[in-house]
Amino acid sequence: MGRPMLFIRLAGCNLSCKWCDTPYARDEGREMSTEDVAMRIRSSHLSWVCWTGGEPLLQRSAIEDVAASVRGYRHTVETNGTIPVPSGLFDHVTVSPKSLAGMPPLADCYKFVVGGKEDLEEVDRYVLRTGIARERVYIQPRCTTKGDAIQLLAPLWTACVARGYALSPRLHVLVFDDRRGV
Ligand code: SF4
Repeated sequence: MGRPMLFIRLAGCNLSCKWCDTPYARDEGREMSTEDVAMRIRSSHLSWVCWTGGEPLLQRSAIEDVAASVRGYRHTVETNGTIPVPSGLFDHVTVSPKSLAGMPPLADCYKFVVGGKEDLEEVDRYVLRTGIARERVYIQPRCTTKGDAIQLLAPLWTACVARGYALSPRLHVLVFDDRRGV
């Protein structure tokens, strides 16, 4: 949390959540070769790469190809948990479960996007049912703008403290608002 890293947002998703805050990642995107992506990583001067989407694991083999050609970097993935996470590829795995019906895959942390009390209660029930450790639960405000994020942060902070969850403030939205490609 808070560590500068290069975000690579891969286009396409196998879900269509009605509250999706990155619909452009499902419906837009442009073709890049794996070598182009590798060059962007090498020129970033950052040591961490975050693979996100959409659902990045739909393009698992491309991630593997890039990771193999940029040795010395650390990789993290943000996935919706519907596709098995390959072992050994990532240094950190964040699962953001979208269906709260099944069991989530093993992950370093579990992120839930929350817009209000009802969402939080749903997360509470999920955490109880699945036995996820509370210290691995991160609550993130549902927002696309800095203004919306700021409004939600104080009540979510109070709720997280009461429950033993962590708060993920959507730092890039607080810093860059709704600008894309930053
Ligand atoms: S899994 Fe994520 S990217 Fe895909 S539709 Fe749901 S919120 Fe959007």
